[in-house]
Amino acid sequence: SKAKLFDEKTDVKTSFKDVAGLEGAKEEVQEIVDFLKQPEKYTALGGKIPKGALLVGPPGTGKTLLAKAVAGEAKVPFFSLSGSDFVEMFVGVGASRVRDLFKQAKDKSPAIIFIDEIDAIGRARGKNNFSGSNDERENTLNQLLTEMDGFGTNTNVIVIAATNRADVLDKALMRAGRFDRQIYVDLPDVRERKEIFEVHLRPIKKDEGLDTDFLAKQTPGFSGADIANVCNEAALIAARFGKKSVGKQDFLDAVDRIVGGLEKKNKIMT
Ligand code: ATP
Repeated sequence: SKAKLFDEKTDVKTSFKDVAGLEGAKEEVQEIVDFLKQPEKYTALGGKIPKGALLVGPPGTGKTLLAKAVAGEAKVPFFSLSGSDFVEMFVGVGASRVRDLFKQAKDKSPAIIFIDEIDAIGRARGKNNFSGSNDERENTLNQLLTEMDGFGTNTNVIVIAATNRADVLDKALMRAGRFDRQIYVDLPDVRERKEIFEVHLRPIKKDEGLDTDFLAKQTPGFSGADIANVCNEAALIAARFGKKSVGKQDFLDAVDRIVGGLEKKNKIMT
């Protein structure tokens, strides 16, 4: 049996309400939602709908979440794949798999294709890479470029890609009509961290009056993914002590745990 090429979700429930902070990025992708919902409104005036947008930013800042929210808001199917899984799994057949992916998305259009870690496929051609053969990866990249160029103006498939290494990407990807829109998704500031806590505290039974300003101040440098982790850890810690709700100290202990984990990870990486 064939390894799974991509994931397809048709009834995406994620919406902009699930994405805290990132006001600028949300504004920019709102336009993509509008294109998907009412393409005629734009093409009637002779405009060409963009085919791709690149989300650039550090890990865990909500790039995948934001792309999924675009699909949820526009009520279109969400095809997603990871660039690094892709080059590892489809040695020798990458290009034909890219063709399959676009064919399926076009059949179900309007649709979003989301490519996480696009740098694994889209590294500048002719430079060394360490996973598999370069020719193979270049074939896959070339096919991706061909597919994006080949969309008619009214196929209404928009490709959103994410990377934390925009600097290594092949410039051909950024050319007009491809990923010509770049949207920055940064680590949250203190006000955004508070909002992210509020999103992830929704399902949690917490002490009354738990101070989210305080939690935001205790977590400088944390990404949205780290904060989601803190909230979950805090609930597990409180449960272990048989508590009926999650309190400030549980969050502080969870923060310590996550900080410990991050330090370990950084040590391994450097
Ligand atoms: P990577 O580069 O590692 O793929 P990413 O930027 O795509 O990371 P996501 O996978 O979207 O990050 O984030 C992981 C999880 O962290 C999300 O599913 C969500 O629970 C939480 N999260 C991250 N950013 C936010 C945010 N801005 N608002 C709410 N939750 C967030």
